[in-house]
Amino acid sequence: MPVATKRDYYEVLGVSREAGPDEIKKAYRQAALKYHPDRNREDPGAEAKFKEAAEAYEVLSDEQKRRRYDQYGHQGLTGAGIHDFNGMGVEDIFSMFNDIFGGSMFGGGRRSRRAGADLEMEIAISLEEVEQGAEKTIEFDRNEPCERCSGSGGEPGSQRRNCPTCGGYGQVEQSTGFGALFGRVVTVCPNCRGKGTVVSTACKHCRGTGRQRGHRVLSVKIPAGIQDGQGIRVAGEGEPGEGMPGDLHLYVRVGQHQFFERRGDDLLCRVPISFTQAALGARVEVPSLNGRVEVTVPPGTQHGQMFRLAGKGLPNLRSRRRGDEIVQVWIEVPTKLNKRQEQLLREYAASEDRSVLPQSQGFFEKLAEFFSKSSKEQNGRQES
Ligand SMILES: [Zn+2]
Ligand SMILES: [Zn+2]
Repeated sequence: MPVATKRDYYEVLGVSREAGPDEIKKAYRQAALKYHPDRNREDPGAEAKFKEAAEAYEVLSDEQKRRRYDQYGHQGLTGAGIHDFNGMGVEDIFSMFNDIFGGSMFGGGRRSRRAGADLEMEIAISLEEVEQGAEKTIEFDRNEPCERCSGSGGEPGSQRRNCPTCGGYGQVEQSTGFGALFGRVVTVCPNCRGKGTVVSTACKHCRGTGRQRGHRVLSVKIPAGIQDGQGIRVAGEGEPGEGMPGDLHLYVRVGQHQFFERRGDDLLCRVPISFTQAALGARVEVPSLNGRVEVTVPPGTQHGQMFRLAGKGLPNLRSRRRGDEIVQVWIEVPTKLNKRQEQLLREYAASEDRSVLPQSQGFFEKLAEFFSKSSKEQNGRQES
């Protein structure tokens, strides 16, 4: 409990310790209007001051809580059921002290207005759609306002009245079962779900929930270059709330491609070539996202060698600059040889009898060096 950092409530409201209820109410009203975040958009500290004032007022306006505070300070209020103002919205605080803001410039009397729930969905797109960008039609079910009661939850003609459970506060204090004094928490009223009011007769269609399931069809633009797993926020397409509706979050899933593997904005394509093409050189046809492209494989090409096709990759989401396509060749060794081919290969093998290919020679030299070095190292270790 950060009790030590809390300011003195009288100091917060700028009143003396002898101040009467009217003076305290007036001081709080002034502080709340002064620090209301709507009026202090340039001052990020205003909201904290607004909440600090609300907390001071809750204590000093209540005779019993004030007495405990006067006697024992902040410590004396542990378990007294003080609201956690830091966790509450400005609107909720305003409606809590409804009476003193009645008719104020902030439209006093507004009840807490909760934003609707956000929805999440996955959307599958192809690599081609990543390249081009796409317009996708999506369909989903969500809660919508009940058409019979327009979301009020009441039968047409029924009345709204203050919730008897919370007395209109929308919140209730509950004992957590660890003892009445130390285990009291403030929670959303289970009867009115925080609204502060209830209807006299529940709507027959939605049974008082004010909601019904609705089917939604939307067209959504997918920007070119989007990454797998990236989210697109469609504002206001979530579930309706008492205030703003929630948002719809679409998570993009880019499907596997038969030829390409994505590496950021580059595309990697593995192309098989024969060992004769690798040895003698060849022009090889490879796929690209916009049709076929020819790549010249030079004589003496090695397995796994890569060739870069500039600008044949994907556009970058932000810069729009295109990545490259990287063609990696995989040398395939024939699994079946006819008589003639086998004969030719045997002749070839005979011709290279004592000669060693340049790359392999380097490899065996390195290998010899490696073994002699590691045996020396081992000897060194044994000596020490
Ligand atoms: Zn209804
Ligand atoms: Zn209630």
